[in-house]
Amino acid sequence: MMPRNIVFAFLTLATLSTAVRADLVVLQYHHVSDATPPSTSTSESLFEAQLNMLGDLELEVVPLLEGTRQALEQGTARNSVALTFDDAYESVYTTAAPMLADRGYPYTVFVNTDAVGRTGYMTWDQLEELASREGVTLANHSTDHGHLARKPDEPEDQWQQRIEHSLDGAQKELQQRLGIDTPMFAYPYGEFDSPLEDRLSDRGWLGYSQHSGPIGVYSSPTRLPRFPMANAYGQLGSLENKLLSRAFPVDAGNLPDGVIPGNPPILEFPLPEKLSSGRLTCFASGMGRIDIETVGDGMVRVQAPETFNSRRFRYNCTHPAGDGRFYWLSQPWLDLSQPED
Ligand SMILES: [Zn+2]
Repeated sequence: MMPRNIVFAFLTLATLSTAVRADLVVLQYHHVSDATPPSTSTSESLFEAQLNMLGDLELEVVPLLEGTRQALEQGTARNSVALTFDDAYESVYTTAAPMLADRGYPYTVFVNTDAVGRTGYMTWDQLEELASREGVTLANHSTDHGHLARKPDEPEDQWQQRIEHSLDGAQKELQQRLGIDTPMFAYPYGEFDSPLEDRLSDRGWLGYSQHSGPIGVYSSPTRLPRFPMANAYGQLGSLENKLLSRAFPVDAGNLPDGVIPGNPPILEFPLPEKLSSGRLTCFASGMGRIDIETVGDGMVRVQAPETFNSRRFRYNCTHPAGDGRFYWLSQPWLDLSQPED
């Protein structure tokens, strides 16, 4: 007779292979306040309306680490959502935390450790108290909130030292002060390059950026997308599409790391047979819809018509996925010749 655990494993696999895979949608916040800079803030009323929409759509809100691992490994039964807050601002403690506690939603705060205790940021006591609550995770957002991709003129050994200080310094401080050692990192400004991704892989960490899209089996563990939720991006009219979006069926690990080789950059990727280039729609930051070229072997090529003048920008592509939902692909670009902010 077959042992019970083997029968169970077999049934689980059989069920998964026939189920439609779903994904994890991660929302990214900074301040939740009406009094902080609008570009990095979500107003209290918008935040509440967003949380209400999660409830209306009956989406499960899950802890980020477990949710990401499950989405990367096997997908989920239906879309789930994880909530994240970067920079450990005070308004997360005073305003967002009580609203989340009321609903019993888990969430993650990415802490840049040098800023803790400064005006507008949480104190170590507040972080300690928050971390003791059920469902709250603290994770690494570097010590110094630096631009961590290697700078054009930066010697390799100098970059190496800088990265170790930013990554390991913050991890050590969270460990020593609060006993927290979470294998997750949020890139400051969402900026990364391939060597930095390798440093995260070496440490066994997941890396979260700021380009949009859900996390699924096609995602790469060191360039995980999140949907920014500041006032300009988090409006309810577009939120439902984001919450129900599906990971684009292209291996994200084969897409460019984002440091632009030319301006405007070219993005090429293989379009799976079940999708058609005629139903693919792509947009470039600040330029609206851009043309799509098919270049043979099932590849498509996208390039904005004009030079970009900012340090960070994106190409976003969507394709209908059935049931009114969309496959969502976002390619972040980083122009290291532009000034740091
Ligand atoms: Zn940040």
